[in-house]
Amino acid sequence: MKVAILGAGQLGRMLALAGYPLGIACELYDQTAETPGGQVAKITAGAFDDYRKLTALARRADVVTFDWENVPVESLRVILRSTPVYPQPAALEVAQDRLLEKTAFGQLGIPTVGFAAVNTRADLDAAALKLGLPGILKTRRFGYDGKGQVRIHRAADMGRAFAALAGQPLIYESFVNFSREVSLIGVRGSTGETAFYPLTENVHEQGILATSRAPCRAGSLQASAERYMRSIFKKYKYVGVLAIEFFVANGRLIANEMAPRVHNSGHWTIEGARTSQFENHLRAICGLPLGDTSATGHAGMVNLIGRLPKKKTVLAVRGLHLHDYGKTEARPGRKLGHLTLVTSSARSRDLALGRALKLR
Ligand code: AMP
Repeated sequence: MKVAILGAGQLGRMLALAGYPLGIACELYDQTAETPGGQVAKITAGAFDDYRKLTALARRADVVTFDWENVPVESLRVILRSTPVYPQPAALEVAQDRLLEKTAFGQLGIPTVGFAAVNTRADLDAAALKLGLPGILKTRRFGYDGKGQVRIHRAADMGRAFAALAGQPLIYESFVNFSREVSLIGVRGSTGETAFYPLTENVHEQGILATSRAPCRAGSLQASAERYMRSIFKKYKYVGVLAIEFFVANGRLIANEMAPRVHNSGHWTIEGARTSQFENHLRAICGLPLGDTSATGHAGMVNLIGRLPKKKTVLAVRGLHLHDYGKTEARPGRKLGHLTLVTSSARSRDLALGRALKLR
């Protein structure tokens, strides 16, 4: 089987690596060949709207997927004329726009935050009046890792917040006083078979994922999260891995966003689950049976952001796994790698995670 992956960042790299044992060859595509993915698999450089190059790539592949959420949906529709694309472009289209995404959650009965579209300053005033303060003003598109969003604590902040983001379609969201953040990663195969990983608890720092632990304390939340994800699977006849990020407030789930791709909060599945999210994504889009999603122990993951610790120091810690994405340029806020550990109890996992955080 040959899989073409649009986007060759760390997610594309980990997908390509997961393909090797299964004899699935991945060819990556990105604006430049100097990418994390380009170091481990064949890569073609080109623009994401170069239909001639994209069609040629698609014709060399059995199926096309993406590791990047901002791939133009129009390009995927052009590719669809020659090769199947999974997950479905319609799911990506909704995930690319926070307003469409939250509207879809509402239509599917998935609880989400209070929200309103904002295009003008008057819209913002009306939204704050309706939904209350504090809130967050976000760009509808192209936001990631906390970028493109401004918190509004009081009425006096509104002018500055609007000025910071004006000129782009915006969304105002009421601020959720959450007790924790969790994510569900699930997968649906082409025959309709589904599988779900245990819920993962995530901590963000400055809007960027810092640590994940799984399985987390979940109780009935696991079943609710799976029910919500199943409704999205059904709507799109979805094929591939899907992630939904939730806030937990008053013991209930509130959906924040979804990602129609493998997800940073699922990196622990490489060492901590019987089948990784990367392998399961490839299995799904290649029409193969899904792998066991159960956890092998208690996993913790620490993102390495802006700077990598010394290899010698990290690898001296028994049980600590290092993933270096091979990025040549370290910048503040840039994800350069991650650490994973798997222990036999939640307590030992939390202790080990605390020690791993110090190495960061
Ligand atoms: P996002 O880009 O929407 O995933 O936001 C990044 C992070 O900002 C989230 O993981 C939360 O920690 C925080 N955040 C985003 N939206 C809200 C909200 N409506 N209420 C409270 N915190 C939020």
